[in-house]
Amino acid sequence: MTDPFAALLALQDLDVRLDGIRARLAALEAGEPLRATAEDLEKTTAALERRSRLLQQLERQAQREEAEARELRAERERVEARLYGGEIASVKEMEKMQERIRYLAETADSHELAALEAMEKAEELRPVVARLKARRERLEGEVARIKAEIETEIKELRRQEEDLAARVDPARAAVPAKLLSDYDFHRRRRGGDVVAAVDGDRCTGCSVVLPVALLSRVKKRERLETCENCGRLLVWLGG
Ligand SMILES: [Zn+2]
Repeated sequence: MTDPFAALLALQDLDVRLDGIRARLAALEAGEPLRATAEDLEKTTAALERRSRLLQQLERQAQREEAEARELRAERERVEARLYGGEIASVKEMEKMQERIRYLAETADSHELAALEAMEKAEELRPVVARLKARRERLEGEVARIKAEIETEIKELRRQEEDLAARVDPARAAVPAKLLSDYDFHRRRRGGDVVAAVDGDRCTGCSVVLPVALLSRVKKRERLETCENCGRLLVWLGG
């Protein structure tokens, strides 16, 4: 026959280990170890999409401005060809054409400038987009790695849980009914480790030295006494 108090501590050891495993399983199943990396990946992807869109806009803008400048220059050349072709006799008409040529040249220049500015901005943005792409790739790898680790840990913990859970009923059967009901009552109320062994004259739950009178009652092992400091049920195993 095992010592009933030792049996109670053994049961508690099982229950506390099961609590720990189940809490860890819940955290893993909620994807907790993944959270920070997944959030980082989400933010990086959003930033990459934003910058990529902006880069495309700038590239298209540069092309548009460039095309506009080309068209204006072509028109200027056509007007110049007519002006210097010797067919225009009216001075007034020639002045109008010269005015038009100046306007076309200036407008072409301003479009050319806008194209250059857009290209410069795009140039600045390209390495930023490249960095974000590399970062996203790294984070995607990281997420896959963490997911695989979580899977492995869940499998291992489920195995441990099953193993320990199968030992609970036999462990409970080894504890006398009165001790068991006290234990269950405290577990329901407080959770965690509610029973503490006494080592020498100390409660091992909180390390406080127990009063002499309490210690002698604990040593009688007639019923479960309570540590006045931490509230745990005290168990004396020593001879
Ligand atoms: Zn205590």
